[in-house]
Amino acid sequence: MSEITEEQIAKEELVDQTIPRWSKYRSEMLQSFPSPYKGEKDSLADEITKAIRTLDQLKPEKKGGAAFLGTDPNLVIDFEHVKEAVLENGMQTSSEVIQKAIKLFEGLPNWGHPLTMNNVNPQGNTAAIVASILTEIFAPNILEGEYAWNIHQAELESGAILANLAGWESKKSGCVYTYGGSGCWTYHLKYALTSVLPDSRNKGIRTDAKVICSQQAHYTMLNSTDWMGLGMDNLILIKTDIDTNAMDMGHLEEVLKDCQSKKIPVASVVCTMGTTDANAYDPVEQVYHLINKYPNPNGFGKIFLYCDSVIGWSWLTFKNYDFKINPLGFSEAVLPYIEENYNAVKGIFFADAFGADFHKTGFSPYISSAFVYKDAAAFESLLSRPCSSYLQPRSPYNPLNYTLEVSRTATGSMAGWATLKFFGHEGFQSVLGGILENKVYLLQKMKDHPSIVCVNPEDFGFVTLLRIYPPGIHTSVQYELELKDKAHKEDLLKHNNLTHAIGDLLFEWFRSGKKINGQCTPYLSFTSRFRPAAYNRDLKDSEAMIFALKIFPLNVSITPQVMDHVLLCISAARDQITQIKIPNE
Ligand SMILES: *Cc1c(COP(=O)(O)O)cnc(C)c1O
Repeated sequence: MSEITEEQIAKEELVDQTIPRWSKYRSEMLQSFPSPYKGEKDSLADEITKAIRTLDQLKPEKKGGAAFLGTDPNLVIDFEHVKEAVLENGMQTSSEVIQKAIKLFEGLPNWGHPLTMNNVNPQGNTAAIVASILTEIFAPNILEGEYAWNIHQAELESGAILANLAGWESKKSGCVYTYGGSGCWTYHLKYALTSVLPDSRNKGIRTDAKVICSQQAHYTMLNSTDWMGLGMDNLILIKTDIDTNAMDMGHLEEVLKDCQSKKIPVASVVCTMGTTDANAYDPVEQVYHLINKYPNPNGFGKIFLYCDSVIGWSWLTFKNYDFKINPLGFSEAVLPYIEENYNAVKGIFFADAFGADFHKTGFSPYISSAFVYKDAAAFESLLSRPCSSYLQPRSPYNPLNYTLEVSRTATGSMAGWATLKFFGHEGFQSVLGGILENKVYLLQKMKDHPSIVCVNPEDFGFVTLLRIYPPGIHTSVQYELELKDKAHKEDLLKHNNLTHAIGDLLFEWFRSGKKINGQCTPYLSFTSRFRPAAYNRDLKDSEAMIFALKIFPLNVSITPQVMDHVLLCISAARDQITQIKIPNE
């Protein structure tokens, strides 16, 4: 179909001269808005069904298909001209626009494909996707009760369920869904600054309060301290343990003591609970005791304890799991992993607030992040503002009086809530435990590949990080030297480059639909900063970092057979690179 042309309109106007053009446009448009009445032919229902069927056509064949949508792997945006777009004069039909929208999905990674394992981004479950879509149709605005009405149940129940998982009294706790794990970080920082620097809401932040987190903390620490106006220089990074990547309690104590002796207030200490590249968990309970041991100087509020658990939170669903009886029948090898994860996150109990990304380990669509706080009365009153003059409180629940955002979409709260209802404890347990079943299989299989070394063997989380060396090298000995001995820095850099090149080649293969053994190659990624070398714990040397390939087998379609294939493809990529780049080895 093409644009509705002026000629067409003029022709129709000949038929009925009395109808002005704007009115014709409006009746055209009416066909493309959802009907307000039931039983009518509704373009929305028709178009959605059609659109989803068409989108489905972009999926690959089950046998041998690549892990992206459509057939064209290329970026086809015309970057040279794209910003010359202007609003066209006439209307297009909504069907046409929808077809164009579907075309934009061409080439997008297929997050639910068994070969996709590049990061913590599993495809959302159907209940969550549909619940989210519903809120786009009859758009509740969860800023306050009148515009959200019963939809607020999703946020309120999510808050209760998450608080309960943390071991908190749910009636006294609360949550707000916000714009990501980074939004949760920012919420915590605002909350912390407001309680530690009581004047700051009116006078601004005039004191260099410190925010303490580990070297492994997510880079969103920069976003939050920057945008909140505290300044990135007020971050203090605590060294991490060379084996576990967890915050070093000795160093934290030194820093807290130092701040106290210099009368410098600390706004918050952030425990990261599950990081992207290393599954580091900081020991919350110990941090809690240290915070109490070194309180802020007089005149400043209590140091805030935040858990950035946006990845790790879902292990809390193992709260009542009987690891002895093992009712879900996890394998013996996997049980200790699960238990370790649960034991690591249960310390969230000691925090003042934590973040939960449903779009990560909650198998929900973007953006569905919950900032959960232990003391609802404190948070909501500390940040309260006078109510708007044009909104009337029609319900007891009106978060606009203390949230960062004004209008808030319900897509996230409905997605998160739908997932909580859909999964229940056992659903979460099965999905999470199932990932570890695949991972443990992978670790087992890696032993058959002498050039591959797992660099995060102590890590009980989802991700497996590995380095692959040229043939003929005693891999594990070589890696130990590169990790610990400065004399081997040159080798470290050389093999970092090799890892980088393999990572890039695998990406190229994924994009070009290369096949090995009749199957496409996996969509993986790599990290250029898994951890600093042991002699570089103060991070002074920007080069002495461990690169590693990353395998994140998060989505539910992944099976052990896929893992065998992944190892094969990594070896093949190594062979190709070493033949080209290091011919003498
Ligand atoms: C992903 C992540 C963030 C940022 O969350 P978004 O949802 O991407 O905004 C923050 N912290 C940690 C530990 C993360 O893994």
